[in-house]
Amino acid sequence: MASDHYDVILIGTGPAALGAAFHLSDHLPALSLLMIDRERICSGGLLNDCKQNYSYPIGFAEEYWTREEAERLLPLVEQKLQPVFKTQHNIDVYRRRAERIGATLYDIRQAHVGTDRSKLLIRRLMDELVTRGVRIMLEREVTDIREESSGAEVTLDNTERLRADRVIVAPGRKGFGFLQQVMERSGITYIDNIVDVGIRVETTLDNYPIVRDYYDPKFYFPDGVRTFCTNSGHARVVLERYQDFSIVNGHALSAERTGNNLVNFALLKTIGLKAPVRSGHQMALFLGRLAHEIGGGRPLMQRVGDFRMGKRSTAETFNDDLYSFRPTCPVTAGDLGLAVPAKIMRHIWAALKKLDTIIPGVLHPSTIMYYPEIKMYANKPTFIDHHFRVSDHLYMIGDGAGTSRGITGAWASGIRAAEGIVQALG
Ligand SMILES: Cc1cc2nc3c(=O)[nH]c(=O)nc-3n(C[C@H](O)[C@H](O)[C@H](O)COP(=O)(O)OP(=O)(O)OC[C@H]3O[C@@H](n4cnc5c(N)ncnc54)[C@H](O)[C@@H]3O)c2cc1C
Repeated sequence: MASDHYDVILIGTGPAALGAAFHLSDHLPALSLLMIDRERICSGGLLNDCKQNYSYPIGFAEEYWTREEAERLLPLVEQKLQPVFKTQHNIDVYRRRAERIGATLYDIRQAHVGTDRSKLLIRRLMDELVTRGVRIMLEREVTDIREESSGAEVTLDNTERLRADRVIVAPGRKGFGFLQQVMERSGITYIDNIVDVGIRVETTLDNYPIVRDYYDPKFYFPDGVRTFCTNSGHARVVLERYQDFSIVNGHALSAERTGNNLVNFALLKTIGLKAPVRSGHQMALFLGRLAHEIGGGRPLMQRVGDFRMGKRSTAETFNDDLYSFRPTCPVTAGDLGLAVPAKIMRHIWAALKKLDTIIPGVLHPSTIMYYPEIKMYANKPTFIDHHFRVSDHLYMIGDGAGTSRGITGAWASGIRAAEGIVQALG
């Protein structure tokens, strides 16, 4: 076999591609596998914070997954990631309080690695794949994929061409544009009609003490609002660059690190778009750019106390007052009301008030609301089989293709695609 030809090329080294690579090399060890990533180390949640949720439906796109299917694959994910599970306390108390006001608390099996230790996990996984003979090319960007009669041609950095019998495309959320470009060129139809828009809340541990009982509590509120990605211990809000603007996110270091006594979590509203609006991605860009404009080139932050009084926050609001704390991500102090569409803000605020009833304190005047936090991952191709195949030789998986919304769901998607290849070749 020529060195530029592989049985399977995997684009990306995130959890979706890793799940596929491990499954393929477990079941068909003689296959030649190549993984390609434009980054030096795989990106996303495996690298940042790395909370792993092992309970359906967290992290799974429910339209493609049944509970049974997810629960069949989650033990396989667990075998490879070897999570150390967090213990949880008093869940029934919180759950009863939530149910009384029309909210739901999911009881999730969870593990947390922490941003400072996640690189070790990634290194262990990559080393194991290399030992099995998987070739890994980092800092190389796939710029094109073209289907051919007997396989597909993959172009690297607009110059080098490689061939494979099958290609698994797992470029994550940041590969959104790339995935669309490949689908359009290959005549693969897709829809992009969902987007999550919301805020990141930052407060003190004392104002959100539930995290002492439950590391990342998953509350679901009416109107499609949910808590997401809670960080505590040594927790920080961070900026994530997306095209020409920044959005906010959060992460935390491992439990071994000294805490800063702060907590952050996202409160996201899922928006399902209907005709005539066609693209969740376009809507996200529009909202992101509006916030960027109003924030003078940066996201916005506002104290709850100011928001309640209907006035903008100013730099002076973020001081060392006795009842206050400094933001971990000092962006532009301002007025969220100018940037967040009214309906989204109304639903998020209603959810925050319910959350404050379940965990009194979270709506303390010092609590900070950052905006925008946006999740752009709903780029859903038309799949032609159960294994996320989109054409004769291409599979599309992970957050970029809308089959998952988290590390474990992405990994399970990789296994599902690999099972299709094993069936076809085995
Ligand atoms: C800051 C942050 C924190 C998060 N925290 C968590 C968490 O704690 N728990 C959780 O469950 N989820 C978390 N997530 C979500 C989680 O990262 C994703 O659900 C998961 O990583 C999706 O896996 P994936 O393999 O589909 O994509 P990714 O993990 O994004 O991997 C895609 C890979 O493809 C590469 N790539 C893209 N395009 C190309 C190209 N053209 N050529 C070559 N390579 C390319 C990228 O560099 C990337 O490494 C977080 C996300 C972010 C951004």
